Amino acid sequence: MLSSLSITQLEELTGGKAQGKEFPGLITQISIDSRQIIQPEQCLFVALRGVKADGADFIPTLIQAGLRVFLVHQDRTIDPELAKNATFIPVKNTRNALQAIASFQRSQFIKPVVGITGSNGKTIVKEWLGQVLSQSFTVAKSPKSYNSQVGVPLSIFGIQAYHQVAILEAGVSKLGEMHTLSAMISPNLGIFTNIGTAHEEGFSSIEEKIREKLQLFQNSQLLIYCRDQALVSKEIQETFSKERLISWSEKPGADFVVSAKKQETQTKLILIKSDLNTFTFQIPFTDTASIENITHVIVAALTLGQEIPSIQEGLKHLKPVDMRLTLKPGLNDSLIIDDTYNNDIAGLKVALEFLSQQRPKRRKILILSDLLQQGIPEKIYSEVSELIKSYGLDQIIGVGGDVSRLRDFFPNQFSNYPTTEALLQSIDTDAFQNDLILITGARPFAFERIVNRLQQRIHGTTLEINLNALTHNFNFYKRQVKPETKMMVMVKAFAYGGGAAEIANHLQTMGADYLAVAFSDEGVSLRKQGIRLPIMVLNPVEESFDLLREFDLEPVVFSPDFFGKLGRYAQNHQIQLPIHLDLDTGMHRLGFEKLQLEELKVLIHSFPELGIASLYTHLVGADEEEHEEFSLGQLRLFMEMKEELEEILDYRPLVHALNSAGIIRYPEFQMDMVRLGIGLYGVEVTGKRDAELKSVSTLKTTISQVKILPPGATVGYSRKGKLPHGGKIATLAIGYADGYDRRFSQGKGYVLINGKKASVIGNVCMDMTMVDISDIDAKAGDEAIIYGEQISLKELGDQIGTIPYELLTNISTRVKRVYYLD
Ligand SMILES: *Cc1c(COP(=O)(O)O)cnc(C)c1O
Repeated sequence: MLSSLSITQLEELTGGKAQGKEFPGLITQISIDSRQIIQPEQCLFVALRGVKADGADFIPTLIQAGLRVFLVHQDRTIDPELAKNATFIPVKNTRNALQAIASFQRSQFIKPVVGITGSNGKTIVKEWLGQVLSQSFTVAKSPKSYNSQVGVPLSIFGIQAYHQVAILEAGVSKLGEMHTLSAMISPNLGIFTNIGTAHEEGFSSIEEKIREKLQLFQNSQLLIYCRDQALVSKEIQETFSKERLISWSEKPGADFVVSAKKQETQTKLILIKSDLNTFTFQIPFTDTASIENITHVIVAALTLGQEIPSIQEGLKHLKPVDMRLTLKPGLNDSLIIDDTYNNDIAGLKVALEFLSQQRPKRRKILILSDLLQQGIPEKIYSEVSELIKSYGLDQIIGVGGDVSRLRDFFPNQFSNYPTTEALLQSIDTDAFQNDLILITGARPFAFERIVNRLQQRIHGTTLEINLNALTHNFNFYKRQVKPETKMMVMVKAFAYGGGAAEIANHLQTMGADYLAVAFSDEGVSLRKQGIRLPIMVLNPVEESFDLLREFDLEPVVFSPDFFGKLGRYAQNHQIQLPIHLDLDTGMHRLGFEKLQLEELKVLIHSFPELGIASLYTHLVGADEEEHEEFSLGQLRLFMEMKEELEEILDYRPLVHALNSAGIIRYPEFQMDMVRLGIGLYGVEVTGKRDAELKSVSTLKTTISQVKILPPGATVGYSRKGKLPHGGKIATLAIGYADGYDRRFSQGKGYVLINGKKASVIGNVCMDMTMVDISDIDAKAGDEAIIYGEQISLKELGDQIGTIPYELLTNISTRVKRVYYLD
């Protein structure tokens, strides 16, 4: 942070009045995340309110950890005991206060600030501009895509006095948001990347969206834009005076006229300025989007006065930006976090945070290259060492010269290699066993080679799980119920195919209250992988009673017979076991029926060892309107049954009835808890709120071979695929053994290859499937999307007469699951 703050300054900036213990020192750090605190005694914790939690809930723990200053909502009562040990500044709204502090910090930075917005490319332009400028300057930039109301303040707190330029990204999703971002970023130089044509929620027209975004540049001296984008150009010219604009275009008349000569793998970019000065650059890309993004970068670098040779040097090393942090299965049960695109402390912090959220493994290992951040190396690496210390790593492997400075801070845990090559030569893959390994390095170190060495071989097919989308969906359902209503998440059937351990772990960090699995084994496996949430087992069997006890699993009891058996088991072992009672109100699968309640009451009396944690029922048709009357009948019957049981209990179990569809249709019956299933995975089965969920999983494979076939040729077993006029087919590395349903045979299914639909031709084989690509430009090694954002599971299920549940859970466990944050 640029400027340390006293309590008086904080009071002035936020309008709050400090209470509690006096704090004589200065604040040098600001955190909004209780897990991300480096120097607690100098850190201000800002308690933000989110959909699921209030940061203020963490205050007691944080005080224990040494924190002394807190910014809280004024309606939150402060415990006088806590106030004896810490300073509290109550404000109307903590987020606004955080933003006010950010604006102040920004005002302390007198060097240029570049602000970037637009629909697409803003993160890439920010990253690339950062890379090019860092050939000549020390650059601060927003980590990843931290461009929101909270992301921007955090980005600003990352700016240090030694930085010579800051690049900040701004993103908005509805009217009125840019105003706040603009006040914080207040860019000297602006870049408007482009505008997407898609209609976005939150805006009534594209023009309105452009005008909102342009507010970022209200006070900028200069704004760079592409004049070939007609709408953008029109709005910009109407809003800004000509002297403030720097335009580029492929056509004459702009400040920079750009022509691109594409070669094999490179493009020669020629920029002619209006004074006829000409600049020529070689860039390592040939696609249109990259050329557009790089042109923004070059014009910005020239405007900031960077020398031509160093711009060219920076451009040479640009690589496609894959900002995603990816979690992959590694060798010997290790887990790998792949962050092979990182070059500064801010990015390292995000990656370490992701590391700390994973389920526990034997050791935490960091493989880190030199950071390409310019600045005084002593300072940078001392800051890095503080950061690493706060995350408690077991081993650190440095690659490069500068990073070797870490040895002084970690004499026993640090080893150093001069180059990636040297590390690869001496690496012993067997030394990694059941470890969590974060591989994070700057582009030129090509750390993907280390990832390749340490990850499990992935055969052509992968299921990618977007953890941000999962969070989004969880929060969506959370918002449909009262804040105090508990969330149980169904992670049965390998978490609907998504991978139980990783998803359960993510749910644990998101604040789910309960998990449920179908069988005891599934629960045991979650416990062995470090999941601590309470786990309900829907269908336990007598043989697993020992496991239930040993692994702290909570069985569902659904029949008098089973109640008796479990009860006697608990008596014999003299233990208490929490159980859940399934009440059958119409499913007629498992569960106690109304007529069995008397019998059940006797059992409850006879076996006080079985404490009833919850009572629930399950709806049979909540997804469909036509069953409305039946569903309401079920809910009423459930209320009667649970009241009858409650009468004989001297404690109150949790009661719950709603699955995903029920949450949408009957929120008035949320009771104490809801049971979220398919909705978390991105399918809204009632169809009412489909657009508000995000697609979580993408099933992908690759083309193994492409064949040109003559007229009359047939494809696959039983000659079912016919090409009367000949054509071109691709063989995909997925078959019914991977879970690609054989009913997709003969044109029922299709996949996406390079954005185009390719229909299945002939019968799906065990490990392979052939698709018709007569009209598609594709080659061996290209990717094929089986389902994902662009191919909905509902649509695919309809094609073959099944439901998304079956498609999701059919994916074989041999398909590798890869998790990422974007
Ligand atoms: C699977 C299951 C759910 C979740 O159902 P969704 O339709 O996936 O939301 C809830 N309750 C019980 C008892 C279940 O078996």
